[in-house]
Amino acid sequence: MIDQPPDVIISFDMETDLGNWGQTYAGIEQGTPRILGVLARHAVPATFVFTADAAQACPDALQRVLAEGHEIGCHGLHHEFLGEANSDTPGLFTLLPEEIDHRLELATDIVAGAAGVRPVSFRCPRLQSSNQVIATLLRLGYVADSSYPTYFYANRLAPYHPSRDDWREAGDLPLLELPTFADFTAPLNDPGAEFLRERDGWPLLRLEGGARFKQRVDRMGDYLRARGLPHFVCLYLHPWEFVPTPHELVFGEGRLEIAEWLWKNSGQPHLAALDELLARLRADGAAFWSMKDFVAHNKEVADGNPGR
Ligand SMILES: [Zn+2]
Repeated sequence: MIDQPPDVIISFDMETDLGNWGQTYAGIEQGTPRILGVLARHAVPATFVFTADAAQACPDALQRVLAEGHEIGCHGLHHEFLGEANSDTPGLFTLLPEEIDHRLELATDIVAGAAGVRPVSFRCPRLQSSNQVIATLLRLGYVADSSYPTYFYANRLAPYHPSRDDWREAGDLPLLELPTFADFTAPLNDPGAEFLRERDGWPLLRLEGGARFKQRVDRMGDYLRARGLPHFVCLYLHPWEFVPTPHELVFGEGRLEIAEWLWKNSGQPHLAALDELLARLRADGAAFWSMKDFVAHNKEVADGNPGR
């Protein structure tokens, strides 16, 4: 046990293989049971955010996630881009602000229909959000959003209520933004790089393994505590990382070579990495939460009654 163990949210973005690039669901169909096995071994609750497409295409996987007691959230309608760009994806366009409201209402209704319970937690595809997205999430009854790309904006390092003027700043909106884990203790090898992906926690667990990733979590704990911030860790992972990921995709009009960092250590090595990370966090006494349960916990802390 360490003195101040972290609050940890493990979450999975349930979508087509390779996010926007693939058209199949091998990750959800074959990866989900493996993920659930690892979570069950460590008694870790998690949040699985489904695109509406994935919820309709993979009802068995969704029901299995629910049956094991995990939270079902929403990840958009078709994995479309909803807000401000933070990565380099030529040929993929961001929706107009006036398209957001209808799409998210439809996505929410479809996920709710598949799950039998209305989602209250959300993550934007590619972590691309906006003031319009947050306003729509509030209208639709969401209580949690985890779309803040911490590595990119590098400003909000702890859960916060967004401002209505700028969702990336703290304010008083009744929804909790849960920033995604980034490692600010790591030196940037390419500080001029446009998108600063080096510090994004997401691919590092797969690329480095559970033991090294846990060292990053510990270092960030010291970094946050030194700034008077809580040690909060929100990881976003994808089911397609837990099956062997293809190195190229062939379409009718061409072929797409997938960057090595997207497929390296996919499948069994990544399952082993997650297993090791969860074991080490458990040994430290970390508290694991679904997104919506963390919101309830956070409110209890704010009200002076922290039930842990
Ligand atoms: Zn996604």
